[in-house]
Amino acid sequence: MRRLPVFFVLDCSESMVGEALSKMEDGLQSIMRTLRTDPHALETVHVSVIAFAGIAKKIAPLIEVASFYPPKLPLGSGTSLGAALETLMAEIDTSVIKTTPDLKGDWRPIVYLFTDGRPTDNPIPAIERWKARYASQATLIAVGLGKDADFTTLKKLTDHTIVFEDTKEGNFKKFVAWVTASLLVQSKSTGERQQHAQLPVFDEQVMRIVKEPQPVADEACVTLVGRCQKTRRPYIIRYGRRLRSVGTRDFSVDVASYHLDGCHPLDEDYFAWSDQRAADLKVNTSSLVGSPGCPHCGNFTAFAVCGCGKLLCVNGPGKVVCPWCEESVSFGPAPEEAGGFDVGRGRG
Ligand SMILES: [Zn+2]
Ligand SMILES: [Zn+2]
Repeated sequence: MRRLPVFFVLDCSESMVGEALSKMEDGLQSIMRTLRTDPHALETVHVSVIAFAGIAKKIAPLIEVASFYPPKLPLGSGTSLGAALETLMAEIDTSVIKTTPDLKGDWRPIVYLFTDGRPTDNPIPAIERWKARYASQATLIAVGLGKDADFTTLKKLTDHTIVFEDTKEGNFKKFVAWVTASLLVQSKSTGERQQHAQLPVFDEQVMRIVKEPQPVADEACVTLVGRCQKTRRPYIIRYGRRLRSVGTRDFSVDVASYHLDGCHPLDEDYFAWSDQRAADLKVNTSSLVGSPGCPHCGNFTAFAVCGCGKLLCVNGPGKVVCPWCEESVSFGPAPEEAGGFDVGRGRG
């Protein structure tokens, strides 16, 4: 039986932390559930998953639908799209069976690339290699999750560039249903000459084809990583951008500030999936609104800054040992208006 290889290439960068990442996991589960009920898909479809953040790695090898178990998605800092494409091309080279005069190989592979941000590596060499050697033998559908995806780069990669915005209850379900439908269409058209992707129509309220690349706005979110001072385990704080109009009746500008979305425990493998980056805090903390408690030990704030530049959790003024640099650091009482204590920068 000739196989239909399907690759999911998933952005697991830190902006996906929380709901977006668990939705992607649920979406994958839901797609697989439907495929398992389709005799055609059960016979032909084989699925593989590649995740990318600061690095890219295959996290599920190409396997038949019946035996596929959706992997837990990692999280890391960075969006290495170039590395993701290199990993994809290497996987296609090693896992997809080519047609030769004596052998009917696999059907034309389908790739779903999901990303929500801008590449942090240089993806151009990989895109050029894809266009030159792979684009004619595989169908690639790039889905930008939200407005902040880099559509200019995605359009260079493929004409099938779609934007999906999860702005309304029920949209994600429709989106997953569309991905599933597009897969089923491909698996049924394998009998005919499967040269061009036939994508099912979709609800324009939910997603649309990107025709013109759009300008890229400010960062949609800010994420900061800290460690629990008691358990030493890492966590990630996510702030989302909100725009506020400031001005008079005749003139106004939108001012961005970042509001607390949540604070999530992290796995230690976050660091292995991340770009090496400068240790010091680079954001202007005055544009951040809200301070979370520690998700590991319940300490009052996860937003205390050690003299070494890293974040830790603390419960009040006093001396603690920084879980990053092992130095003893003390936090003093706060200036009046902050009410509480000064977590801005402790002294070592
Ligand atoms: Zn803690
Ligand atoms: Zn420190």
